[in-house]
Amino acid sequence: MTARAHDHVWRNWSGLEQAVPRQVETPASVAAVVDAVRRAREDGTTVKMAGTGHSFTAIAAPEHTLLRPDALSGVLAVDREAMTVTARAGTPLKDLNLALERLGLSLHNMGDIAEQTLAGATSTGTHGTGGTAAGLAAQLAGLELVTGTGEVLRASATEHPDVFDVARVGLGALGILTSLTFHVEPLFVVEAHEQPMTWERALGSYDEMVAAAHHVDMYWFPHTDRLLVKQNVRTDLEPGEQRPPSRLASWWEDELVSNSVFGGLCRVGSRVPALVPRLNRLAGRALSERRYSDLAHRVFVTPRRVRFREMEYAVPREVGLDVLRECRRVIDASDWRIAFPVEVRTARADDVPLSTAHGRDSLYLAFHVPADTDHRPFFGGLEPLLREAGGRPHWGKVHTRTAADLAPAYERFDDVLAMRERLDPDRVFANAHLRRVLGD
Ligand SMILES: Cc1cc2nc3c(=O)[nH]c(=O)nc-3n(C[C@H](O)[C@H](O)[C@H](O)COP(=O)(O)OP(=O)(O)OC[C@H]3O[C@@H](n4cnc5c(N)ncnc54)[C@H](O)[C@@H]3O)c2cc1C
Repeated sequence: MTARAHDHVWRNWSGLEQAVPRQVETPASVAAVVDAVRRAREDGTTVKMAGTGHSFTAIAAPEHTLLRPDALSGVLAVDREAMTVTARAGTPLKDLNLALERLGLSLHNMGDIAEQTLAGATSTGTHGTGGTAAGLAAQLAGLELVTGTGEVLRASATEHPDVFDVARVGLGALGILTSLTFHVEPLFVVEAHEQPMTWERALGSYDEMVAAAHHVDMYWFPHTDRLLVKQNVRTDLEPGEQRPPSRLASWWEDELVSNSVFGGLCRVGSRVPALVPRLNRLAGRALSERRYSDLAHRVFVTPRRVRFREMEYAVPREVGLDVLRECRRVIDASDWRIAFPVEVRTARADDVPLSTAHGRDSLYLAFHVPADTDHRPFFGGLEPLLREAGGRPHWGKVHTRTAADLAPAYERFDDVLAMRERLDPDRVFANAHLRRVLGD
């Protein structure tokens, strides 16, 4: 299906990036994807499959043909012996979670929203916190992609393993993914413990908490001494035995406190920045302790209705808390007024060449500003110290790095470039963002 382009301006979730493709298609089959790629190659143009636009950068921005993911959705196969599930690449993660729940299955781990497409999320190295694999790409068992020459390749540890290795986090530069196969587990219940803490206590006991709980997530309220710490532990409870928060409590926490009230505080803070420290102290004090249990994906994922811009860096785990302390020192010494909490998560080392956790245990530090705020003073003020600490920016979040200074951060960067040369020699999948982070 083809549509006239000006009817379809591509915009990302935060509203920071937009592009007008020359044409828009919604392929419903692998053959339709192959056709779009071959036409682009013959015409000397480009084609970009976008996800749901949840990347904060222009990584998914189309220059010529935009492919929408909507018709490439749904579960294709369930293998209970191998414990894998294959789904079309454009399936929203939330749909996969529900389908898996009905099958009594679950992904091991995920980030804090599930709006993204499977391909979009894996392609930029989307991660949660803790577990044996924080990143979705490290949970992949296989993938199918259409290369820049229009070839359909299936890749896994046994079939085209070199392609599988690199294409798990491929930034949309190596091919158009048409299906993804994930390792899955029996559906499991997680017990959540949310607790306000002081800075000293949270940072002082962080290593202990990470050792004791499977998934630890912390939110520091800038200009205050307060954090919200979430410790999620996998339980032996059978699905059905969980004790989720009451609907009223969920509504109060998620809709009112995290979204409506928080959105209101951000609006006030944007209008009168001098009030931000006081508002953050108010928000920090309003936090309360709560415990509940629920199916894993319901605990991991929370609704995020307040729009923002984000920069996130993965720094080596062993220096991570010192880097966080240094970020606090810089924020305290600045005249920035930051309304959004700084999020702190962990990941175990993985073997995905472009994963931000490649080859090293990592601490993730994420910084946010409201969607209508100029992020450059804040993000730009912290980025040099994150880079100095050996930091790797999230591929889907705001950063200013280029191929030249990303290469030394990734041991296998050259292997990725070689694979790009092999799979997309004519740069059918290129856009300005990829030219910046991977080169021409
Ligand atoms: C509110 C919010 C919360 C978030 N939370 C987290 C979090 O907890 N953890 C985390 O790590 N990240 C998080 N992110 C970032 C987000 O997960 C990533 O940016 C992800 O890439 C978005 O997926 P998408 O479907 O929107 O893809 P898009 O942003 O639309 O595209 C991302 C990339 O994937 C490529 N792509 C899409 N489909 C295909 C395909 N079929 N084949 C090949 N390439 C493809 C695109 O071309 C592009 O390069 C969050 C973002 C937002 C806005």
